[in-house]
Amino acid sequence: MPRLTVVVPAYNEAAVLETFHGRLSRVLDELPLDCDVLYVDDGSSDATWALIEALAARDARTGALKLSRNFGKEAALTAGLDHVDADAAVVIDADLQDPPELIPSLVEQWRAGFDVVYATRTARAGETGFKRLTSALFYRSMERMSDIAVPRDTGDFRLLSRRALDALRQLRERQRFMKGLFAWIGYRQTAVYYLREPRQAGSTKWNYWRLMQLAIEGFTSFSTAPLKLATWIGLLSSVLAFLYGLWVFGKAALFGDPVHGYPSLMVVILFLGGIQLLGLGVIGEYLGRNYSESKQRPLYFIEEQRRPRGSRP
Ligand code: UDP
Ligand code: MG
Repeated sequence: MPRLTVVVPAYNEAAVLETFHGRLSRVLDELPLDCDVLYVDDGSSDATWALIEALAARDARTGALKLSRNFGKEAALTAGLDHVDADAAVVIDADLQDPPELIPSLVEQWRAGFDVVYATRTARAGETGFKRLTSALFYRSMERMSDIAVPRDTGDFRLLSRRALDALRQLRERQRFMKGLFAWIGYRQTAVYYLREPRQAGSTKWNYWRLMQLAIEGFTSFSTAPLKLATWIGLLSSVLAFLYGLWVFGKAALFGDPVHGYPSLMVVILFLGGIQLLGLGVIGEYLGRNYSESKQRPLYFIEEQRRPRGSRP
């Protein structure tokens, strides 16, 4: 029988883990596959690891990894996917925002020959209009600026075939914008649609600050357009400055210059100063990324590991 591993990153999810495992188990019981679950505790500070250990003791097909500290969801996911030796893996959030009941549909598309089957939300319950607007803006600019199309309204909830997993495993960059990486590997990809529910319990670890960092991460990992933008703005403003200079000189030569123009001077200085700082910031963003890549640090460390005791040899 083909084997499937469900990878679940969990950071302080003690409040939902039991419910989650119950719902997931019911789904896996029905699947005509040899299934197991791999929880990745991303350095939780609550009872998450104790709960996972209890689940593993009770349910023979539960495996677990405990990272040495909180490395962030991307690293936790990577750790999980690195440890999958099944024929396919499903990535799902522990907070029940990704309904486990959708897994059979993902599996169906995989059996039909797709390598990456991602779950796309059709509605965003429990999210503000502002969040919807900013995320729409993000996806649109991402599509424009990079060569890869990151599917809209799609989180990390998806199924990956063996060869997609092997491909992903070769991407060891430290700045991990997972949605981008999933799209970048290519192969046969397809979507399955579902209704995204609001979080069951616990609280989201995302806020606008983190979302903004994620957006910057997305842009800078997959596009050098911002660097080119700085060049174009620089070019445009120098042309404008040159024309304006001609005009100022012409005026002074014809009519003399009774020292006017403090406001325009200030405007030009502040505007150009701002643009230069912006350009420097953009360069710094890329330089910083280069710096952290060049250190070649491992993506995560594992503190403890439990293998599933299930049907496998
Ligand atoms: N998560 C993680 N490490 C972190 C933050 C989050 O492993 O540093 C996990 C979290 O436990 C959950 C999933 O990633 O299973 C999604 O997190 P969350 O629900 O906070 O994000 P959102 O659904 O708001 O995008
Ligand atoms: Mg969530």
